[in-house]
Amino acid sequence: MSSFLDDLTCVQERISKAAARSGRSEHDVRLIAVTKTVDVPLIREAIAAGLTEFGENRVQEAMAKAPLLPPHITWHLVGTLQRNKARHAVSLFSMVHSLDSVELARELDRRAAMAGLTIDALMQVNVAREPQKSGAEPEAVGALLNEISGFANVCVRGLMVMAPYSADPEAARPWFRLGRQLFSDLARLSLPNVRMEQLSMGMSGDFEVAIEEGATMVRIGSALFGQRPGRADADRDCNCSTHKGEGEAHF
Ligand SMILES: *Cc1c(COP(=O)(O)O)cnc(C)c1O
Repeated sequence: MSSFLDDLTCVQERISKAAARSGRSEHDVRLIAVTKTVDVPLIREAIAAGLTEFGENRVQEAMAKAPLLPPHITWHLVGTLQRNKARHAVSLFSMVHSLDSVELARELDRRAAMAGLTIDALMQVNVAREPQKSGAEPEAVGALLNEISGFANVCVRGLMVMAPYSADPEAARPWFRLGRQLFSDLARLSLPNVRMEQLSMGMSGDFEVAIEEGATMVRIGSALFGQRPGRADADRDCNCSTHKGEGEAHF
């Protein structure tokens, strides 16, 4: 078995166990396989294994890969979107996870209307107020949604949240909890074109904690495809109990 299939099995198992711990089923958590820097042949392997939802952080890179891959898969934009790429973004991505301003919503709305479609988006919230990260300030989200609800061709489907980088997944828990709280509070708003359905949070280092705290989508790259070039060469072992051979004979 290829190492990709091993890693996929392991990630899926961890997702379903974390979902069970939060009283949910694995079917309540969507796996977005993040394929930035991943080559097309490996993406094909992921598609052959049954994955259908893929994430990229650059419009250009997704545009280069998408035509080489089957049309039944869907693409999520997980990285920052520059307004001058909105035209390409609306035609390629089924969901933009990085909406964080009225200006970007206006441009997405305009481009989506021109293309005769609507674009689903998640509001990215900078829960930890990290200066290097994009995302709306938590207390600004309500007012932003109020304005964005006037754009008929942008449908806000929920929130995207990132925890600050840490080697300890537990460090992410308070930030995910804050994201979940905001999500629940905003769900009480009644605005056109805004529905709090999806909570996108959790990456390779912290997705189990994110699921325990209520994530409905996890965005996973390196735990599936290995470390990306240019990053510290951590081993790609995925802490899967079945692979560690609990109770199995060791030779
Ligand atoms: C790269 C990226 C991911 C996946 O990161 P991994 O740690 O490799 O799982 C998820 N979300 C966003 C926004 C990303 O840019």
